[in-house]
Amino acid sequence: MGDYPIEELSGRTLLQAAWIPNIRKISGAGTTRMVQTVPEGTAPGSDVANLSLLGYDPREYYTGRAPIEAAGAGIPLQPDDIAYRCNLVTVSNGAMKDYSAGEITSEEAHQLIHDLDRKAGKDGLKFHGGVSYRHLLVWKNGPVEVKTQPPHDIANQPVDSYLPQGDRQDEIRRLMDFSRHLFAEHPVNRTRIQHGKNPATQIWLWGQGRSLTLKGYQELYGLRGGVISAVDLIRGLGRLAGLKADKIPGATGFVDTNFEGKVRAAMNVLNESDFVFVHVEAPDECGHKGNLKLKKEAIELFDAKVVGPIWQHLESKGEPYRLVICTDHRTPVATRSHTSEPVPLAYLDGPVGLVSREAPFDETVNGGKAEVMAFDLIRELLNRRQ
Ligand SMILES: [Zn+2]
Repeated sequence: MGDYPIEELSGRTLLQAAWIPNIRKISGAGTTRMVQTVPEGTAPGSDVANLSLLGYDPREYYTGRAPIEAAGAGIPLQPDDIAYRCNLVTVSNGAMKDYSAGEITSEEAHQLIHDLDRKAGKDGLKFHGGVSYRHLLVWKNGPVEVKTQPPHDIANQPVDSYLPQGDRQDEIRRLMDFSRHLFAEHPVNRTRIQHGKNPATQIWLWGQGRSLTLKGYQELYGLRGGVISAVDLIRGLGRLAGLKADKIPGATGFVDTNFEGKVRAAMNVLNESDFVFVHVEAPDECGHKGNLKLKKEAIELFDAKVVGPIWQHLESKGEPYRLVICTDHRTPVATRSHTSEPVPLAYLDGPVGLVSREAPFDETVNGGKAEVMAFDLIRELLNRRQ
C-alpha cells in the first residue's frame, strides 16, 4: 500500500488519499509505528518483507524467493534441488511489456507450462504450474550462482540487458529461448491475441535458491494458526513457519479476488486456533501496473472488505485480541517496483467498543523515519500477552 506523494493527489500519498476509516480508527485506538521491513543489504521483495512481518530476520533465513513459493505449492525440495520462479511474460519488440502476460488465467497458463514441461522437462528438471502467471521450475543441481532479474522491476526495459548472468548463464537462457519458440504459435496465445489480450510470449526465470527452514510458531511462541493468501510465496512462508496455508477458492491476488472467502477462512482459522496472517496482494499488483486509480480502489477494498469485517468479528466475540495492520513494502505507482523505505504498522489490543477517533496510517508516521525493525516489533507483539 505504501507509496510516494503524488501530484495528482495534491501531494498526498495513496494511503492519505484513500477512504480507509477502519484502518484509521485502529490507528486512532491503538499504536502506529514506522517499521523497517526490508533490512539494509536485502532486496525489497515481498519474500523479504513478509519474512520480516512474520517475525523472522531475513538476513538470517533468506535463501531466495522460489524455494519459499515451492513450499507454498507443496513441492518438496531436496538439498541439491534449485527452485526458480518461472513467470509467463509478454516480451514485445525486445522489451518487457508485461511481467504478468495480461494476468493470464491459471487454466491457460497450465496448458503452456504443461506443454513446456513435456518438451523441455526431464529427470531432475520439472516445471510446476502455479497461479496465473506465477510458476516454478525445480532443477536438480541447476545453476544457482547466477544473477537473475525480477521481471516486474524492468517494465518496458529491453530484456537483453537483464538476461541471466554468471556461471552457467547459457543453460538458463536456453530454456527461456526454447519457451519463446514453443509459445509463438501456441493456440492459447492465438486465442488471447484474438481477444486483444497480452500473449505469454515466453517464460522468465528468476528468484532461484536452495530450500530453507524456519523455526515454527508453535515452538517459538506456543501459537497455532494459519496464513490466508492467494499467492504461493506467502502461503509458503506460512507453511515454513508451521502455519496452515490452504488455498482459498477464487483468491486471485488482484482486485477481483474473493475477499469474502478470504475473510471467512480467516475467521475459521481464528475460531479453531490462535493466530491468522491475512495477506492481500492487490495494492501491490496495481502499483506494478502504475495504475493510480486502481491502487486506490484496492486499498479501499482492503479496508472495507477485509479489515472492517475481521475487526467486527473480533469485537463481536468480546474476547481479548490483538490486531495488527501493516504493509509489507512500498510499490509506488511512479516507480512501478518495490522500494525499501519504512512503512506504517498499527496494532490494537481489544475489545475497544465503538471507536470514533481516527489517526493517520501513512508514510508520514514518525516523520517518515523507521523506529524499529518490523521483525523485532512483531516478535515482541507475538510474545506479549494481554
Ligand atoms: Zn510486488
